[in-house]
Amino acid sequence: MYSQNPVFIPGPTNMPEILRKAVDMPTLDHRSPLFGQILHPALAGVKKVLKSENAEIFIFPSTGTGGWETAISNTLSPGSQVLAARYGMFSHRWIDMCERHGLEVEIIEAPWGSGLPADRYEEVLTADKSHRIRAVLVTHNETATGVKSDVAAVRRALDAAQHPALLFVDGVSSIGSMDFRMDEWGIDVAVTGSQKGFMLPAGLAIVGFSPKAMAATAKATLPRTFFDIRDMAGGYANGGYPYTPAVGLLNGLKLSTELLLSEGLESVFARHHRIASGIRAAVKAWGLRLCAHSENLCSDTVSAICTPEGFNATEIVAHAARKYDVAFGVGLGEVAGRVFRIGHLGSLTDVMALSGIATAEMVMADLGLDVRLGSGVAAAQNYYRGATTSKIQAAA
Ligand SMILES: *Cc1c(COP(=O)(O)O)cnc(C)c1O
Repeated sequence: MYSQNPVFIPGPTNMPEILRKAVDMPTLDHRSPLFGQILHPALAGVKKVLKSENAEIFIFPSTGTGGWETAISNTLSPGSQVLAARYGMFSHRWIDMCERHGLEVEIIEAPWGSGLPADRYEEVLTADKSHRIRAVLVTHNETATGVKSDVAAVRRALDAAQHPALLFVDGVSSIGSMDFRMDEWGIDVAVTGSQKGFMLPAGLAIVGFSPKAMAATAKATLPRTFFDIRDMAGGYANGGYPYTPAVGLLNGLKLSTELLLSEGLESVFARHHRIASGIRAAVKAWGLRLCAHSENLCSDTVSAICTPEGFNATEIVAHAARKYDVAFGVGLGEVAGRVFRIGHLGSLTDVMALSGIATAEMVMADLGLDVRLGSGVAAAQNYYRGATTSKIQAAA
């Protein structure tokens, strides 16, 4: 029922005690001024985490998936054309959502394990002289394959083609953990949820809209009610919500942004990079390879690890849960059974990461894989001994 072990899934992530306590609140009247004292600092904190001066932040009782729907339904109309690439389960699901909303999706297929093909985006955008494409979709960090993509390169592609399409970025598994620059990269809608980089329970869809995306909402005719940002903006203007907010989660979000900003975003990113590098050193020592096709594509929040041909990687996840009470992530979609995933985002330290590596080793040895106990742990230890330059670790 309950374990003291950390989880190693790429969301929901481990919760610092201080955030668990912040979420646990007595009932509060969300129409009282007290609520504004929670809401407005949370909105301001999110804006800073997104590195935006101009974005309007909206927070719905939902999850990241609801954030996708907020992006689409507030800015587009039935039959609007969007450009997207499919290179993993999350980019696939976003495309599926667009299709189910009656959008016309121009899909670029890319191998799972590769990043977003920005050069192909540029070709398609350049060819679209009449500017029929209204929005360009990017999954910044493909959580299924452990691959990060270059959002700035997509912005350059849009600019090179002098194309006015909106740029939507799914940052669900990158925001608050990996470098993310809403304004600098010219992102029009940024999407995330509460249960990944923000280290909270699931339950909030968190989105940022640029002024250009805000302007697009007036003309958009896709049906929307629950996720209508005009209603939400109206609520905020009166210090409240158009319906009942998830007050405890918002209180947690307020504190979460304070923790991230007081650790310093660059330190948070460096910590994730360091922890991820140790895990990558372990994978190498095991003689295994990552699903990510090259080093520069490796995500700092999740590693998808390929198991040898003929071995069912899902067994690793099942055995780890059964015998050691530790959660790893299964392979999804096209890579189901071929990879297992170690999530390493949120509230995590080098020391916690070592326990995950050690557990994965025990599991693989139990299942007869040719992995020497201690090999990955030693590789990660060597990395962490040299790389730990700061005592600042996951908050509280
Ligand atoms: C987790 C995740 C989602 C889905 O978010 P939910 O909160 O589960 O709806 C979307 N995109 C990416 C990249 C994710 O990692």
